[in-house]
Amino acid sequence: METETSRAALDLIRGYEGRPVRIMEVCGTHTHAIFKYGIRKVLPEQVRLISGPGCPVCVTETGFIDEALWLAQERKVTITTFGDLIRVPGSERNLREARADGADVRTVYSPLDALTYAREHPEKEVVFLSVGFETTVPGSCLAVKKAKEEGVGNFALLTANKTMDQAYPVLKDSADAFLYPGHVSAITGMGIYRKLLDQGISGAVCGFTPDEILTALAVILKRLKSGQPFTENCYPRVVTEEGTPIGRSLIREIMEPCGAIWRGIGNIPASGLKLRSDYTAFDARKKYDVPDLSGRPNPACRCGDVLMGRIKPPACPLFGKVCTPEQPVGACMVSSEGTCSAYYQYNL
Ligand code: SF4
Repeated sequence: METETSRAALDLIRGYEGRPVRIMEVCGTHTHAIFKYGIRKVLPEQVRLISGPGCPVCVTETGFIDEALWLAQERKVTITTFGDLIRVPGSERNLREARADGADVRTVYSPLDALTYAREHPEKEVVFLSVGFETTVPGSCLAVKKAKEEGVGNFALLTANKTMDQAYPVLKDSADAFLYPGHVSAITGMGIYRKLLDQGISGAVCGFTPDEILTALAVILKRLKSGQPFTENCYPRVVTEEGTPIGRSLIREIMEPCGAIWRGIGNIPASGLKLRSDYTAFDARKKYDVPDLSGRPNPACRCGDVLMGRIKPPACPLFGKVCTPEQPVGACMVSSEGTCSAYYQYNL
C-alpha cells in the first residue's frame, strides 16, 4: 500500500534527471525486498540497482565447504551448521550429499544450539560452521567464550566470518553509491561509513520496508547530485551512531582480523575474522590439523561476476537450466538471500 512517505520518495525518484547512476545493495535481504516490492520497476531508466556480495553464504568459498567435508568424512566430527550451507557446492559434493552417505551433519538455529549439542554429547567432537558478517559473529564468539568458561572441550568453530568495511573499497568501481546493510550497521554503527568518505565512497544505511528502501534511494539520488561523498542514516529506528558496542567488544575479545577469500572476488586483506590465540583450542583448523584445501568451483559458474555486479544472473549460461534452487551449481543460487535465487524466484 502506498503511504505518504513512499509517495514523496517516489516523486523524488521519478523526478531524477541526472546522469546514469549505479546503486549497489550489498545486503541479500535488501535484494529480496527490492524484488518482492517491485522497486526496480518504478525506477527511471538511468537509475540502475546492482546486487552485491552481502549474502554470507554466497561469498563463502568452495575450499571452506571442502574443509567441512574433510572434517566430517576424515575426522568423523559432527558438523553443525545453518541450513543453507549444507547445499553449497564444494569441489566434488556438498554437505547434504555427504550426510546421505553417513556423515554426521546437523542443522542448528544458532551457535549456542551447537554448543548445547556438544555439551549433551561429550562422546562426540562437534564443529560449528561459523560464517556471516558482524551481525552473526557475536553469537559465535559467545558460544566459544561459554565453551571455554564451562570447559566444553569437544566444541570448536570452523571460521569463515567476514566484515564488510574492507569490501567497499574493492567494490567502489562497481557502484556510484551503496545501500548500506541495516542489520550489519546495527552492530557497527555509522563510524565505518564516515571512514569510507575519505576514499570517496558514498551510501545510505537502509531498512527493509518499502518506505525505507524508497526513502534511502531518494536520499542517495538527491545527494549524488552534489558530487561530494556522503553518508546518511535512513534507518534511524534501528541504527545508531555508536551501533552495538557490547557486540563489537565481544568480537574484539575473541577474534582478530585476518585475510579472507570471498567467493568470486578473491582475497580481501583484513576482511576476515579468526579466533585469537587464547582460543586456539576451539579453532577447528588447528585442533584437527585441517590440510590446506583450495577449492575448485565449477568453472562455468559466474557467481563472481554476479557478486561484483558485472552481469545479471540470467546472463549466466547455467541459470535456470542446470542451476536452480533445488540443484544449485553456485552459492548465489543456494541461499534465499542469494541474487541468482532472487532472480529465479521472481522469474526475471
Ligand atoms: S546461475 Fe548458478 S551457476 Fe550461474 S552464477 Fe548464478 S549460482 Fe552461479
